[in-house]
Amino acid sequence: MLGEPPASQYDLRFNLFGIPVRVHPFFWVVIALLGLGGGEDPINLLIWVGCAFVSILIHELGHAVAALSNGCRPWITLYGFGGLTSYQPTRHDTRREILISAAGPAAGFLFIAFVMATVHASGHSVQLFPDPQESNLFPPWASFSLFASDNVNTLIWYLWQINILWGLLNLLPIYPLDGGQIMRELCLITNRNRGIELSLGISIFISTAVAIASIMLLQRLFLAIMFGYLAYTSYTTLQRYTGRGGFGGGPSH
Ligand SMILES: [Zn+2]
Repeated sequence: MLGEPPASQYDLRFNLFGIPVRVHPFFWVVIALLGLGGGEDPINLLIWVGCAFVSILIHELGHAVAALSNGCRPWITLYGFGGLTSYQPTRHDTRREILISAAGPAAGFLFIAFVMATVHASGHSVQLFPDPQESNLFPPWASFSLFASDNVNTLIWYLWQINILWGLLNLLPIYPLDGGQIMRELCLITNRNRGIELSLGISIFISTAVAIASIMLLQRLFLAIMFGYLAYTSYTTLQRYTGRGGFGGGPSH
């Protein structure tokens, strides 16, 4: 599994609602590299990095607030692989684990609903599931009447893309995504002894299928490499798990 990176002197540290947040320098590097696909415009890149930072932080805050309200003491790390909310291991509770896992994507969906409601309240029409011909948004599930400022349009578009697409991707039953953690809990309910192996098998199958679909149907090499890597880590985790008889470490989302 993906662990926390060691502390570095370039870490950014702050507290939000009493929850410690640490941003590792690689977070900025990887997010900026992801944004370079959007063009060479430095203002666009800055907007992208800001949107990604705020959106990932809100996602992790969803996990952390759910953990906090369930009696755990969470901390958030933003690093090269995205975000991670961790907390000290306590007695295992299936309902709590599912709730904490689902709270991340839920926070992102609530946030983008709030953003789109604000766009609507400012007198700009918002249309869900518009005619794909009239929409320049991918996937074409929403469009809004444009603002005079291109930067504002870019900001809304990035927030929409990140929160909807990443939220949905995160719900896939793949380790270590949130959907993978939810699937682990559901498999443990149906099969106490072999639930984790079953969920790792599902994770390998789904991530391989998504990797193949990414390259064959979408021609997205980066997405294919990412899901190929997740299939590989699920496979090695399954091997380690069956070889050693259990996971180590505390829960993280
Ligand atoms: Zn998450």
